[in-house]
Amino acid sequence: MIVAIDGPSGSGKSSAARAVAARCGLTYLDTGAMYRSVALACLRRGVDPDDAEAVAGVARDVRIEFAPAGDGQRVIVDGEDATAAIRTPEVERAVSPVSANPSVREAMVALQRAYGERGGVVAEGRDIGTVVFPSAEVKVFLSASPEARARRRAVQRGGGDLARGRDVPVDAAAERAVLEDLVRRDEYDSTREASPLRPAKDAVRIDSSDLSFDEVVDRIVRLVEAAEGGPHERA
Ligand code: C5P
Repeated sequence: MIVAIDGPSGSGKSSAARAVAARCGLTYLDTGAMYRSVALACLRRGVDPDDAEAVAGVARDVRIEFAPAGDGQRVIVDGEDATAAIRTPEVERAVSPVSANPSVREAMVALQRAYGERGGVVAEGRDIGTVVFPSAEVKVFLSASPEARARRRAVQRGGGDLARGRDVPVDAAAERAVLEDLVRRDEYDSTREASPLRPAKDAVRIDSSDLSFDEVVDRIVRLVEAAEGGPHERA
């Protein structure tokens, strides 16, 4: 069983994909973390993210591993825990040109397909339903208004977690900065030549702007059940 969840930054893909994987007994695969890991490795090795050839070399050489930890997972890059380091604004600035590099995509897609071959996965990203797993049994394209996405990201950065009902006050300027960054990255991801962000023709579209986290998860779990032919209890 392969479940593909694509969508722009802050649409709630990651939290939803993690929860769906837990409820359906599948492995969660965060492909954005892989592109972020390549970007981090470039920064650490002093490679310019716009130097396509050097970046391709890093993508072929870097070791990216996921280690289960509590209810989440740690991302290990070249043997070092990089879970927090891949979420910094520096990495977010570097990741767009890195992920638009066709050689980087080729290397990451090969790794992602190898994960898929090992068994059931819920993979989230931008090109899962279109390129990585075009014959996934379930395909979802999750979107939300830019304002709803910026708010989620700003709360997350402030230490809150809307998926778990932990809201925190966020500064309006911080939210505006997040919104600008999201819009810039989405524009880059949607207009690049290599695997642009777009819904697969057969994807079920869900707009999460006015849905609760549980409603989003329930809808996706129902799609998985329909594809499998059996219900999954809520955790
Ligand atoms: O989802 P996340 O924000 O962690 O992704 C970081 C970046 O990685 C995105 O802005 C996008 O450029 C890239 N990405 C991609 N293809 C994927 C997943 C992420 O190009 N399947």
